[in-house]
Amino acid sequence: MDALLERFCRYVKIDTRARDDVKDYPSSPGQKELGALLAQELLELGVADARAHGDGIVTATLPGTVRSAPAIAWLAHLDTSPEASGTDVKPIVHANYRGGDIVLPGDKQQVIRVAESPELARLAGKTIVTSDGTTLLGADDKAGVAAIMTAVDELARARVPHGPIRIVFSCDEEVGRGCEKLDPERIGAVAAYTLDGEDEGLIENETFSADLATVTITGYNIHPGLATGKMVNAIRLAGQFLERMPWQTKAPETTADRQGFLHPYTIEGGVGEAKIKVLLRSFEAPELKQQAAVLKRIGQTLEAEFPRAKVAVAVKRQYRNMLEHLGKEPRAVDLAVAAMKAAGLAPTFKSIRGGTDGSRLSEMGLPTPNLSVGMHNFHSKLEFACLEQMQSAVRVLVELARLWGKQKR
Ligand SMILES: [Zn+2]
Repeated sequence: MDALLERFCRYVKIDTRARDDVKDYPSSPGQKELGALLAQELLELGVADARAHGDGIVTATLPGTVRSAPAIAWLAHLDTSPEASGTDVKPIVHANYRGGDIVLPGDKQQVIRVAESPELARLAGKTIVTSDGTTLLGADDKAGVAAIMTAVDELARARVPHGPIRIVFSCDEEVGRGCEKLDPERIGAVAAYTLDGEDEGLIENETFSADLATVTITGYNIHPGLATGKMVNAIRLAGQFLERMPWQTKAPETTADRQGFLHPYTIEGGVGEAKIKVLLRSFEAPELKQQAAVLKRIGQTLEAEFPRAKVAVAVKRQYRNMLEHLGKEPRAVDLAVAAMKAAGLAPTFKSIRGGTDGSRLSEMGLPTPNLSVGMHNFHSKLEFACLEQMQSAVRVLVELARLWGKQKR
């Protein structure tokens, strides 16, 4: 069996599903189990400082063979999405995929349809890996983990001259805690790459800029029997508030491509007080201010109409478009383009309508674009990976090592 495929199938069987209902870090024990295994395998590959740390993060350094070259880092995350089960994953290898819909044998209701995953049409004749339909596959991000492990293996054999390469496997990316234990200092590189992207040949160099608005509506509560002319029901005002938000033109479900949106995603409360959390998203950071102003205006109108009510809008900064920070080290993206070309791919830039660990790391000073690693339909039981696309990600990593090896610090 192909070494990359063998690694991938082994890693996906370890349940590393992240949890968003616990305070522990990492949020599930499987992440530590996989981390320990990877540290051990890195040691066996001759990476002497490989270590699974107490907080679940795995770090290792492939020493440079070129003294003058700067250090780069390869990152992948150990956890899988909480959106589908990750227990008892049974990877199924569809060698020489003959095209058409793929019925998953463990649950025949689960069908990967060409109509819904048109990229399948391009993958006839390739090797596809799926789950049996009862769980997700976990290619997000074990395709990234397996690609990095294989690239380390190949670099050692191929005698490619390169600078120091830092390997980092992180935890709980899927529950927004991927950078809780990570910072540029711990990573120790001039540029980093997350291997956490779909399909093949994509360089994700742009993410949303993001703020979180919390709208707190304070009503006036009184016994319903005595409420005539007095009660102001915060729940009803919350309904009004939502109704007045510009969802026809500025919601996730009504926008695409480079358009931003305001997305109310949780609501809780009672007659006395209701809270709505709203995600503000745009590729242009200044637009976030306009989005917040929209919410504040709605609040002011409601206060004018219901003088006993208070509507407060508090905005918290989340992350900023990676593109704003990648310019600090232009080689991060330039050499990714060159490496993809050298690996025989046609690189394409893609903007992510969301954030990545790379957006935070880039903002903290470590430029970190995201690269394709052959995963598809992630976060679902219809997830699949393409072996040949994972192999091309390995080639891209080896080329990145070679190209950065020719750079000066
Ligand atoms: Zn991921």
